[in-house]
Amino acid sequence: MPFKNTSDWLDYDKNHLWHPYTSMSDPLPCYPVESAQGVRIKLADGRELIDGMSSWWAAIHGYNHPLLNAALEQQIQSMSHIMFGGLTHLPAVTLAKKLVDLTAEPLQHVFLADSGSVAVEVAIKIAIQYWYAQGQKNKQKLLTVRNGYHGDTLGCMSVCDHVNGMHSLFQGMLPEQFFAPQPECFADGTTNIDVLEKQLFQHQSEIAAVIIEPIVQGAGGMHIYCPQYLQQLRLLCDKYGVLLILDEIATGFARTGTMFAYEHAGIVPDILCVGKALTGGYMTLAATITSTEVVQGISADGSGVLMHGPTFMANPLACQVANASIDLLLASPWKHRIEEIEAQLKAELSSCQQYPMVKDVRVKGAIGVVELHENVDMETMQADFVAQGVWIRPFNKLVYIMPHYIIDKNDLSKLTSSIQHILKPLTLKAN
Ligand SMILES: *Cc1c(COP(=O)(O)O)cnc(C)c1O
Repeated sequence: MPFKNTSDWLDYDKNHLWHPYTSMSDPLPCYPVESAQGVRIKLADGRELIDGMSSWWAAIHGYNHPLLNAALEQQIQSMSHIMFGGLTHLPAVTLAKKLVDLTAEPLQHVFLADSGSVAVEVAIKIAIQYWYAQGQKNKQKLLTVRNGYHGDTLGCMSVCDHVNGMHSLFQGMLPEQFFAPQPECFADGTTNIDVLEKQLFQHQSEIAAVIIEPIVQGAGGMHIYCPQYLQQLRLLCDKYGVLLILDEIATGFARTGTMFAYEHAGIVPDILCVGKALTGGYMTLAATITSTEVVQGISADGSGVLMHGPTFMANPLACQVANASIDLLLASPWKHRIEEIEAQLKAELSSCQQYPMVKDVRVKGAIGVVELHENVDMETMQADFVAQGVWIRPFNKLVYIMPHYIIDKNDLSKLTSSIQHILKPLTLKAN
């Protein structure tokens, strides 16, 4: 054991280890985890927290699930990894078939990527290669909407919100893309898609694809919008000759109440990205799924070679746990479960609306969001939630939960009541 005790290794962590979006010189405290089981995270000091985050959308079946554990243990006995260049294996092929069967009919071709960001990079490359092969070499830009989030690598960053994503830091380095306003839907059934249409009209000769998170924008602002916007977007993409990439890395696998969020709108993308819940939160794996039309388009100039192939592509352990996770989801009454969670979130979070600090409460599927008027002090609020016995990680103006689908009524109530308890006494700063 290189460390004497918990505070010793915590100290090493603080001095040597980067965490997501943190400073090395002024790190925020981290809570040491010993284990996790079901919806509970056990800290090193023995305290147990009810988890409201599902480890960022991923652990939909809860932690330490016997069937997912068994899938991995069994796969380890035959092979943990094998290169995917020139070789193939049943775990990957089985997963491809599950993804093709689960998604809309036109989506037939699967690229297994090693993280969500990579899946988005691959989607962008596919879109650009598609137009290149048709002789439209100028169509290399993307059009997206404000407050989106599509990952942290440079290509993905270029389509994240340019303010939230701090594009100014990387100016000259990031490709400049086109941005339309965040989708808004009005009471009379209309939307603000006219601005996006203007950009499509003006720049259609440069735009390869529109990329957007359907129905719920995740990390960029937890914004929920109407299916009509997506229906209009699908028509506009066809009208102006632009591909539609849907990023369902957060919303995929039933989170919004349908297996994929695009089903709310009854549309089909040309390219679909999934990740996060794909392996039930066990391993890093994502996929880019493409229509046959797009695949044939890439091959139109004779080459058809997609320029991507990571070392750990289609890792068998990740594929097998994804297969087990999808089976588990399909064998569960998932639709009913998400409806129950949605109803309970609506009933229990709505009272937050009356607190002075609260600007908006919104719920979609197994996602509950409380938006505040001001940014929270994350460190203090995080500690308050831990003291309440729950794991909820607020950021900026947002306090939100996306619980495991297996959470029971009492544990979910504990999450919502601790949000009420902590937000109720907060008052606006006088300024
Ligand atoms: C998390 C996320 C990504 C990035 O996935 P990583 O696995 O973190 O690289 C991309 N798009 C959306 C919508 C996400 O929520």
